[in-house]
Amino acid sequence: MSRIWKKSAKKGASGELICSPKEAFRLYKRAVSLWRQKAGGLFLFTGLHAAVKAVNPYCALYFTARLLNEIAGLRRREELFKWVLVILTVTVVLSLLQALLYRVKMAYESAQWNYTQTIYADKILNLDFCTLDDPKTYELFSQIEQAENWAGHGLPRVYWHFGWILEELFKILGAVALSVSLFTMKVPESAGKLTVLNSPVCILVLLLCILGTGVGCSALDKVMLSRENQIAEEEKFGNRCFWWMLDFSSNQKRGMDIRLYEQEKGGIACFQSYHLFDTTSPLAALLKGVGGLLRALSALLPGLFMGIVYLYVCLKAWGGAFGIGMVTQYIGAVTALSGGMLGMMTALMQIRANAFYLRELFQFLDIPNDMYQGSLTVEKRSDRKYEIEFRDVSFRYPGSDSYVLHHVSMKFQVGQRLAVVGQNGSGKTTFIKLLCRLYDPTEGSILLNGIDIRKYNYREYLSVFSVVFQDFQLLSLPLSQNVAASKVCDEQRVLECLRKAGLEEMLQALPKGLGTSIGKDYEEGGIQVSGGQGQKIAIARSLYKDAAFIILDEPTAALDPVAEYEIYTRFNEIVGERTAVYISHRLSSCRFCDEIIVFHEGSVIQQGSHEELLSKKDGKYAELWNAQAKYYTK
Ligand code: ADP
Repeated sequence: MSRIWKKSAKKGASGELICSPKEAFRLYKRAVSLWRQKAGGLFLFTGLHAAVKAVNPYCALYFTARLLNEIAGLRRREELFKWVLVILTVTVVLSLLQALLYRVKMAYESAQWNYTQTIYADKILNLDFCTLDDPKTYELFSQIEQAENWAGHGLPRVYWHFGWILEELFKILGAVALSVSLFTMKVPESAGKLTVLNSPVCILVLLLCILGTGVGCSALDKVMLSRENQIAEEEKFGNRCFWWMLDFSSNQKRGMDIRLYEQEKGGIACFQSYHLFDTTSPLAALLKGVGGLLRALSALLPGLFMGIVYLYVCLKAWGGAFGIGMVTQYIGAVTALSGGMLGMMTALMQIRANAFYLRELFQFLDIPNDMYQGSLTVEKRSDRKYEIEFRDVSFRYPGSDSYVLHHVSMKFQVGQRLAVVGQNGSGKTTFIKLLCRLYDPTEGSILLNGIDIRKYNYREYLSVFSVVFQDFQLLSLPLSQNVAASKVCDEQRVLECLRKAGLEEMLQALPKGLGTSIGKDYEEGGIQVSGGQGQKIAIARSLYKDAAFIILDEPTAALDPVAEYEIYTRFNEIVGERTAVYISHRLSSCRFCDEIIVFHEGSVIQQGSHEELLSKKDGKYAELWNAQAKYYTK
């Protein structure tokens, strides 16, 4: 594990960690439009809140300056009263508005996780299965998740930054509006040497100081952010382990194994040895060391600048350029201008750092669906006369160099019972996955009624098949919805399918009948079904779909011998007119099939009826049959 850890760290550290401004702008533009499709209100209210929040202090500053001027000048009672009233009214109204907008913004913000997850889920659910199954896709998506789990990097930061940038922008605009007259109001000639403050050079120096503070702090930020991104990259694998560990300890299904094999010693202990999220972690070391120093320097620069501002404004007031009340306004405005510039530059740098993670996100969202999507409709035949043909099909899984199916050629027709047998890993399940077009053959073609299955409309083609995979999945929903795979169901048909699958007895014992939930995840009254019961429910689900083909991958593996016997004796009733493709290790259960194909190391090496295959004494089928039979005959 530590080798992988180091490898991953090296790989991450070598890349470019902060995007160029141009690339960052392009990525953010795309991200904002993606967000806006999901949550337009979030941007609207974030923008409004940012505007009010930025403007609020300026209003107080502006009117307070007028009040102070009056106190220091004519001291008219009604004028004083007017300014106090204005200050109070404006502050109260703007504060109320700000609080209100904040709440609405927060309401949108609280749903942001949902929006992000919907964007991911939409993409994943619409990916070709073969692409989803590709390790590279998994790796990429996992990196996006790691970045998000690490520090909200990626999409979630986009709207934070949007609000931040707007706030700084309004801050700058407000500050400019309040500080323009600082530069235009002149120190009178009578002030002697202080008239030097009227020189454009002085103004230029002050503006350069503002800019310099922003650029200096932003450069310090860049160093810090690069290092933070580098650590996030280096610790990706550890971060992934961390999230795995959270699942590891809370996953109910692992509970028994963990206890019996003390797996926590390997799992949690291994993770803990990396010290990823404690005070000795690389991130903590950065914050306590160089990071702390850089932050201190970042704080020092604006401090120095403030000294210069105070000096300039006070000297100008001293020289008689403006009254004492304006000192408050100008110092406040220029400080805010510098703060706004600084904030803007920091935000822009953060955007460049975060854009690095958007690259991965868009790489994922741009994964194309390469599977050819035909448009032919699958003929709905009342006689269900379909014929499937594999024509010289070879296949290797995405990301793998070795073929798992070699030149498979075979035909079978509807109404037939086809058994697929062979040792583990011989390619039986892969054969089914190709038949259902979860993958396309690497070479050769599969035909339905003489037409390449790629030419059919994909959804329609899938509707022809009902499959019970070995690792079928049930949902924590009522039994009826599990069988119907839908919220709306025909209860009579559900009952009929459950009866055919042999669940009549269990059904009678259920507290809420068809409404009983499978599993206790979401309902206390749910039932924990056994492996065999689950398999029967999956069989009932495949019957409910009423497709022309029913494919059963080891359908009785979890059943007890009596239940297995029942399924076989009623197999014809269960399957009806459908074509049944049946994978099993128990050769005795294949005898009732019309046709049997034998897989060995990815090739079909025999095809025929049970009797035909058994008569070939040196054939694989006879070998497998005899190997099983000897345990029963002895
Ligand atoms: P069977 O059903 O006969 O036990 P499978 O069709 O499941 O065999 O597997 C055939 C071969 O394909 C095995 O070597 C297996 O390791 C490999 N294989 C199965 N699924 C995948 C996958 N998703 N990616 C890569 N290889 C796979």
